[in-house]
Amino acid sequence: MNTPISRIKGIGIKTEKILKEMGIVSYYDLLSYYPKGYDFFAGLVSVSEIRMGEDNCLRVKIISQPKLQYFGKLSTLNFYVADEMGMRIKITYFRQPYLAKVMVPGRRMIIKGRPYWKKNELHMSNPLVLSEEEVNQLKAMPLVARYSLKKGISEKKLKQYLTQIFAEFADKPPIEDYISDEICQKYDLLPLWQSYKLIHFPRQKADIDNARKRLVFDEFFFFQAGLRKPEQILANDFPVVKRELSQCFIKNLPFALTDDQAKTIAEIESDLISERRMTRLVQGDVGSGKTAVAFAVSVMMMENGYQVALMAPTEVLAVQHYIDAKQRLEPLGIQVALLVGSLLAKEKREIYTGIQTGEINFIIGTHALIQEKAIYSNLGLVITDEQHRFGVMQRERLSQKGAAEKLPHILVMSATPIPRTLALILYQDMDISIIKSMPAERLPIQSFLRSGAARDKIYRFMGQEIKKGAAIYIICPAIEDNEELELTGVISYAEALHQKYPDWKIAYLYGGQEDKEEVMNAFAGGEIDVLISTTVIEVGVNVPRATVMLVENAERFGLAQLHQLRGRVGRGHRQSYCIFISDAKDKGILEKLEYVAKHTSGFDIAEYDLKMRGPGDAFGVKQHGMPLLQLADLYRDLPILEMVQKAGAEIEDSAAMQEWLKLYYGGKKEILSI
Ligand code: ADP
Ligand code: MG
Repeated sequence: MNTPISRIKGIGIKTEKILKEMGIVSYYDLLSYYPKGYDFFAGLVSVSEIRMGEDNCLRVKIISQPKLQYFGKLSTLNFYVADEMGMRIKITYFRQPYLAKVMVPGRRMIIKGRPYWKKNELHMSNPLVLSEEEVNQLKAMPLVARYSLKKGISEKKLKQYLTQIFAEFADKPPIEDYISDEICQKYDLLPLWQSYKLIHFPRQKADIDNARKRLVFDEFFFFQAGLRKPEQILANDFPVVKRELSQCFIKNLPFALTDDQAKTIAEIESDLISERRMTRLVQGDVGSGKTAVAFAVSVMMMENGYQVALMAPTEVLAVQHYIDAKQRLEPLGIQVALLVGSLLAKEKREIYTGIQTGEINFIIGTHALIQEKAIYSNLGLVITDEQHRFGVMQRERLSQKGAAEKLPHILVMSATPIPRTLALILYQDMDISIIKSMPAERLPIQSFLRSGAARDKIYRFMGQEIKKGAAIYIICPAIEDNEELELTGVISYAEALHQKYPDWKIAYLYGGQEDKEEVMNAFAGGEIDVLISTTVIEVGVNVPRATVMLVENAERFGLAQLHQLRGRVGRGHRQSYCIFISDAKDKGILEKLEYVAKHTSGFDIAEYDLKMRGPGDAFGVKQHGMPLLQLADLYRDLPILEMVQKAGAEIEDSAAMQEWLKLYYGGKKEILSI
C-alpha cells in the first residue's frame, strides 16, 4: 500500500508531480482518493423527461443560428436546440468561439449536461457532445464515479491507474482485513478491500452505500484508535511564569474582551501554568473573536521564551493573521514571520534560519509549510485555526532541534458547531472551551433571500452602501471542481459588473491566484469596493469595513457554509447585510435557505441541517472540515459512529490493524501521541 504510484504503468515524472499535488503519492493515497460523486446514465431522454440537478443526455437538433458575443475577453456562443417533440433548450458555450463554425442549424447531435432554469427557459452550459459509440459505452456501464481532477489528469487515466492496482492484487489484497469475517457479518460490513473496489467501480447503486458504510466505519475506527487516551497525561514542558506582556496586549486591544473570551483565556492560562500538557479545543461561532484569544495566549507563551506556530487552512487566512499579528505584536517586541507556499525559496530559507535560531517568535502559515522543513528552537504551542487538530495528527511532526521529546501544547480553534453528544465522543481526550457571547456592540446581520430578478435593485442598494464607504463581497460558486470553470465564474462576473458600474472599484479573488495577499490588503485598506470571490474567503477572513455579503446561486452551498460566508460581514460597528440569491425552484431548498436567512446562531443552523438532511445525499457538502474523515459525515453517520463504539471493543488488535492505522495516519506513528 505504500508503494509509490510511479510503479504504475503510464505514470511518468510529470504525472507523478500532478498526482502529488492532489495528495496522491502511494497506492493507498490513490485508493482513498474517493469519488466526489457518481453519474448514472438513465438512457437518452426527451426534454419533458429531464431530471433537474443531474446530468441528462438528449438527442437534439440545432434550430437557431448561433450567436457569438464577446464581453471583454470572454466569449459566449448561444443557440437553441430542440428534441423530437420540438421542446427547446437554450445552449451556451463559454470561451469556445470556434464552435460557432460547427454548431450550424439543422445539425443533429447527442448532448450531455446539467440543465437549469433561467428567465423561464431551460438552459444548458457547455454540454458535451457524445458520439453514438460513447452512448453505447454508457449503456454498458451506466454507473460511473466522478472525481475532482487537476489539469493533466483525466478521469479516464485515474481509473486506469486504479484498475492496475486492483489487477495487481487480484489474488490477494496487499494487507489483510483487520476485521474478522464473523464481525463483518455480524455488523453487516463488507471486507475492506472489496469496499475500495466498489467505491470506485460500483456495479449498482447499493454497492456505493455498502462500500461507503465500511469505509466510514474504518474512518471512525482509526480516528478513535488514534486519540490519546484521556488517562495518558503528559507533563508540561513549557511552563508559563510571566504574564505581564499578555496583560499589556489585552489592555491595548481596541475593545474590551467579552466574558467568554476572558473566561477562555483564563482557562488556557491555567493550563499553561499547570503541570500537564495542554490539548484544548476552543469552539466559538464565527465572529465571536477567537483570534484575540489566540494572540493573547501566544503572547503569554512568547514572553516566557517559547515559540508559537499558528496554522491556518488557507493562505488568505494565514496572510490576514500575519498582517494582524505584525501590527499588534511587533510593537511588543515580538518577531513575526509568515510561511506560505508563494514565498521565494530564498525567503523561505531565511525564515527557516530565523526559526532555528529562535530569532523569530511567532510563525504564521499554512499547514503544509509549517509542517515541512522548519526546525524550531523552542516550540511551545501550536495553534490550529478553523480546522480540527486531525490535520495536525495526520501529517506533520513539528520537529524540534535537541528537544525531540518535548511536545508542544495544542490549541485548536473551531467555528464548526458540533452538537454536544458528538463532541463528547470525538473530543474525549481534549478540554473544551466555548465562546458563546458575541461582542456586545455588534448589530445582528440582516439577511435576505432573493431571486435573481432582484439583482438590479440589490446593485442599487450596494451603490448606496459604497458611497457610505462600505466594502462588499460577492461570492460565486465554483462550477464543478474545475479550476478553469471556477475562474470563469468569478472573472466574468467581475467583467460584467465592471461594464455595468464603471465607477466601482472591483477586484476578484480565487484559490490559486498569485496576488491574493495584495488583493486582500487592497480590499481591507479601502482601495477596492467590491470583491468578487470564490469560497476561498469562507473561513476566518476578517475585514471589518465589509458590510454587505451577496451570495450568488446560494442553493449550491451547504447551510453551514452559508453561515460561514455570512460571518465575513457584521464584524464592525455598522449595520451589515447578507443577501442570498437563488433561482432554485425546489421548495425544500428555498425553505432551507430561508431558515439560514432567518437564524443567526451557527449551532441552531447545524441542528436544523442535521434534521433536514435526508438520506440519499450521500456525498453532500462536507460540513465539518476534518481532513481525516474524508467520507464520513459527522451528522448523518452518527449511527455508524455509535456502531464503532460498540463493535470496536470486539475487534482484536493485530499486526494488520497496526498496518492500517499507520497508513491512515500517513505512516507517522509518533503523531498519534499529540
Ligand atoms: P472569529 O471568532 O470568527 O475568528 P475574529 O477573531 O476574526 O472572529 O473577530 C471578529 C472581529 O471582531 C474582529 O474584527 C475583531 O477585532 C472583533 N472583536 C473580537 N473581539 C471583540 C470584542 N470583545 N469586542 C469587539 N470586537 C471584537
Ligand atoms: Mg477566525
